[in-house]
Amino acid sequence: MKTGKDIQINLGRYLSKRIYPLSLGIGLLISLSFPATYYFLEYNGGKRTARHYAEKAADRFQEIIIASPRLWKYQIYSFTEIEREMSQNGDVISIQLYNKQGGQIPNYYYHPDSSDATAWWNRWAPMGVADIVFNNEKVGQVEVVISQKIILLKAALLFAVSASVGILLALLSYRFPIRVVQQLENELKELFNNMQGAKKESDRLRHAAQESEKRFRDLVDGLDAIVWEANTETRQFTFISHQVENLFFFSAGEWLAAAEFFKEQIFPDDMDMVLDAYRRAAEQGVDCQLEYRRVAKDGSIIWIRDNIRIMNSGVEQKQLRGVMVDITKKRHAEEALSAANLELNRSVQQLELHNWEISTLHDMSEMFQLCRDSDEAYRIIGVAAEKLFRGDSGAFYILSPTEKMLKLSLSWGKPIKHDIQFLPDSCWALRRGGRPRISNKVNNLVCKNIDIANSNDCLCIPMVFQGETIGVFHLECFYAEMPGEVTWGADFEAKYQLAVSMTEHVAMAIANMALRETLRNQSIHDSLTGLFNRRYMEEALLREVSMAERLKNVLGVIMIDLDHFKRINDAYGHDAGDALLREFGKYLLTNIREYDIACRYGGEEFICILPGTTLENALARAEQLRRHLESFKVEHLGRLLKRITISAGVAIYPEHGLSPEGLVKAADEALYRAKSKGRDRVVAAIGKGTGRQDVPSDFA
Ligand code: GH3
Ligand code: MG
Ligand code: MG
Repeated sequence: MKTGKDIQINLGRYLSKRIYPLSLGIGLLISLSFPATYYFLEYNGGKRTARHYAEKAADRFQEIIIASPRLWKYQIYSFTEIEREMSQNGDVISIQLYNKQGGQIPNYYYHPDSSDATAWWNRWAPMGVADIVFNNEKVGQVEVVISQKIILLKAALLFAVSASVGILLALLSYRFPIRVVQQLENELKELFNNMQGAKKESDRLRHAAQESEKRFRDLVDGLDAIVWEANTETRQFTFISHQVENLFFFSAGEWLAAAEFFKEQIFPDDMDMVLDAYRRAAEQGVDCQLEYRRVAKDGSIIWIRDNIRIMNSGVEQKQLRGVMVDITKKRHAEEALSAANLELNRSVQQLELHNWEISTLHDMSEMFQLCRDSDEAYRIIGVAAEKLFRGDSGAFYILSPTEKMLKLSLSWGKPIKHDIQFLPDSCWALRRGGRPRISNKVNNLVCKNIDIANSNDCLCIPMVFQGETIGVFHLECFYAEMPGEVTWGADFEAKYQLAVSMTEHVAMAIANMALRETLRNQSIHDSLTGLFNRRYMEEALLREVSMAERLKNVLGVIMIDLDHFKRINDAYGHDAGDALLREFGKYLLTNIREYDIACRYGGEEFICILPGTTLENALARAEQLRRHLESFKVEHLGRLLKRITISAGVAIYPEHGLSPEGLVKAADEALYRAKSKGRDRVVAAIGKGTGRQDVPSDFA
């Protein structure tokens, strides 16, 4: 079996004859054709020529290496520096090279017995096994091991390791059979080719990646949207496209540096919603779409729509990706539209309300036309007011012309705490010239007659018709849900206008009603005595006869004539006669029942209608009237007028007549008889159908 020494000797012998020139040639050839690859030569310590050539080759190699600008960046260990005399007894360094497939390249040995070699050794030995890496891909491996003296070889290595491409450069000096050299050379060539191929592929891939990156960037930058990516663990953006700066004025760098999805920028009102959506997307893996606001660097508020997708990039790592689109304009347009819609709806509602108010007022006015008296009118006003001022309270005070007082005629809503009548002077609204007045606790000028202690505002609107004050409309507003110092609601103007309209309608209605009542009074009353006139008497008698007929009741009619009245006129003058007639009217009213109807029939003749009165009672009543005249005294212009007497005829329904005319005729006939019989007496009508006889002519 051959020892290392044998091999050395054999190799040395062989190489000294055959390999040396060849290897030198190959070395030069390779150093020229692969300047950055490797260079090798054979050196045998004893041969001067070999040393000479070796040194020459080394110089040449250095020239080539140094002259090649590609290699400037490589760290070069000079062949001559490393290759020094080495002790034959020193330890041997074995360097093993492996090819890409892991196949071992035969050992190369290095003797480290020199300071250079030791330096070299110190540099490489700690690496133990070093990968030959090319473009981040392991293409081979170099292993440095120490072995015992197996064989003494002088070797020189030159490694230049590229920092950028990771190409291993090796220069080896050895003594091996040519076969080994060729094998080594081939394997190194293959290694190099692999490296070159890998580098080319890597360049191609890098280029393709750069192209792809550029395309992606162009695409993303061309979008009218912001593309982003965030880590769900760190809650930080890991990518954000450049448009972000145009929209928010925060740079992409600021976005990437900010924590919690840049929450400082999220509009405070939307913060919880947004962070919750991001969290849910991350935890439940649910894609979602959000619309929310971020605050730009200049303080402006930007509406964005964010389409968020959850991505699983690794086993544990999850990422959120999203596309943000600026929807501020759209949102503003939507908001403007909805505000406009709201306004439109409000206007429509207001119009409808206004229409309804007008029609309610109109209905009220129509109803007024049908009213027979003011009580009916007040009932109608009350119903309308409760509808129109729902929730409020109000009252109408009507001025009594005779008493010069404002009297509560109608009220609705909550009980109003104020006087039921007051002098016009104590109302501020009337005092300041009939203009409407708002009183409340704030302006603290509340009329004395009003108590708005419960923090209600009130409105006083004078009711004026044709320049005449006829009353005051008082409205109290309640703000149950708005305590404190509030002064009317937002709808004040509308309510105020409505109250004014209402007041105008009511003022007109009440004035009309008063006018109608006056006219009617005038038409049915006798202006001298104040008693009902003949026309009314005929109406009343017809009504009462029908009533008596329906109820199977009786009805008394007394016809009275003043005796010798002409003499009064003659004695005292017509005015005195008038005064006497006036006083007689009052006398009649005070001496009949409330529901009896006293009328002036004409001249000095009077008729009293006594519903439900029998002949007996009617005669008694007439007699009472006649008798009490004894105490009837009338003064005119300081003169006591002569005492008068009356004659009366009494007729009864149905005894003396079934119709008004029949009854009046019967009573008149009885009166005539009373006159004939000497006056100052009461005479009953002659019965018809009932068979009743005439009562004693002188009832008294
Ligand atoms: P007798 O007892 O028969 O009824 O006599 P008399 O004078 O009352 O009756 P006569 O019919 O002759 O006269 C009625 C008088 O009453 C005539 C008229 O001047 C007077 N008279 C009628 N209406 C008024 C009136 O409104 N004012 C005044 N002052 N006098 C009146
Ligand atoms: Mg007469
Ligand atoms: Mg008379």
